[in-house]
Amino acid sequence: MPTLCSHHLCNGCSACAQICPKNCISMQPDTEGFLHPSLDSQCCVNCGLCTSVCPVLHPTDVSDSLTGCYAAYNTDEPEREKASSGGIFLLLARWVLNHGGVVFGAAFDEDFTVSHRSAETEEAVYAFCGSKYVQSRIGNSYREVQQFLQAGRYILFTGTPCQVLGLHHYLGGTHEKLLTADIICHGVPSPDVWERYVKERAAKDNDGILPKVIRFRAKETGWSSFSVQFQYADTWYSKRHYEDTFMHGFLKNLYLRPSCHNCIAKGIGRVSDFTLADFWGIQRIQPDMYDNRGTSLVLLHTEKASAVWKEISARIKADPTEAETAVNSNSAAIISVDSHPKREDFFARYKNEDFEKLVWELVPKEIPVKPTLKQRIRAKIGRVFRRFLCVLK
Ligand SMILES: Cc1cc2nc3c(=O)[nH]c(=O)nc-3n(C[C@H](O)[C@H](O)[C@H](O)COP(=O)(O)OP(=O)(O)OC[C@H]3O[C@@H](n4cnc5c(N)ncnc54)[C@H](O)[C@@H]3O)c2cc1C
Repeated sequence: MPTLCSHHLCNGCSACAQICPKNCISMQPDTEGFLHPSLDSQCCVNCGLCTSVCPVLHPTDVSDSLTGCYAAYNTDEPEREKASSGGIFLLLARWVLNHGGVVFGAAFDEDFTVSHRSAETEEAVYAFCGSKYVQSRIGNSYREVQQFLQAGRYILFTGTPCQVLGLHHYLGGTHEKLLTADIICHGVPSPDVWERYVKERAAKDNDGILPKVIRFRAKETGWSSFSVQFQYADTWYSKRHYEDTFMHGFLKNLYLRPSCHNCIAKGIGRVSDFTLADFWGIQRIQPDMYDNRGTSLVLLHTEKASAVWKEISARIKADPTEAETAVNSNSAAIISVDSHPKREDFFARYKNEDFEKLVWELVPKEIPVKPTLKQRIRAKIGRVFRRFLCVLK
């Protein structure tokens, strides 16, 4: 029997299932709803490809050197509005489409589960815009990427760092016409938990009828205090991220995939060409790049990425930045988050209890502590001092 990665370290990239020449590995949900490889030993010919392709069993060495690092945003406002951060993804996608290529990304299905698909038109690419904070089903995307590359097409493959790493291992390296963009990833929530939340929300808000649109990162309330929105036919639900139950549990690490707590794909160096992220802390670091409509942190890892960046730069407002400074405000780039101490409790109960009640019981809202007079005076002096420094500059 071939060796597959252990359950708690498997990130579900599915390279093993896709490389199997006999299709005897399928991805099956575990009790928490995360997909894991399941091997049908009857048809296995012991070729060993599933073991050798696994990025967890065979870690990749990557260099931390970058060919560029920017605070940036797309200057087309409606395009930036559609995006979670600065809308850079859409510009990369358009570059690939304009070169006759194919774009891969994560989209909502009709029932709001999330899966990876390919797109060959700009219209179809719009479905990939905006973050969906749940692990997407990768399906046979790596096989499809390989087929398109063999046909001589350009590809942009986007996904979480572990999905891009999985593709890299599946293809056995990089390819002249392949561009990859990963993200700084906090971790991926369970698809089953998300499905339950969508159904429970719809039952509470709209007699069980699913919404027409869901947005995890609506910017009407600002990029930094974004809202989660469910838009139904006649009504809608909208809450700031810290008040929405699903986002609260996600950001408190209540239902992330176990491997996210020991992620192998973190670091400044990546196998991808681009890393896209929110540039949290930009208002302090480069205030000129902040307007609360979304600023991206963009890491360019390869010469290929720099060449494409140059070609799309007419549509971007960008300012060079230091990666080390930027990731200080976005530690998910380099450090795995710890799981919430009540994680096991949550998974033991979530299938039989009201989701909203359970999450707020296990992870109550933190009541902000009012700053003392001394703290307020200190903060005020700090603000005046920083403004004074800006004027001096
Ligand atoms: C699960 C998850 C966790 C994240 N955690 C962080 C974080 O801790 N810090 C941070 O700075 N940024 C994080 N991001 C990235 C951030 O939210 C933006 O996606 C990123 O900055 C790109 O933004 P954009 O404005 O260029 O494009 P957008 O239009 O916002 O991004 C769309 C891109 O995201 C991809 N995408 C969307 N949902 C998924 C998904 N479920 N799985 C894989 N790919 C997906 C699409 O394929 C497309 O490439 C996370 C994203 C996801 C999906």
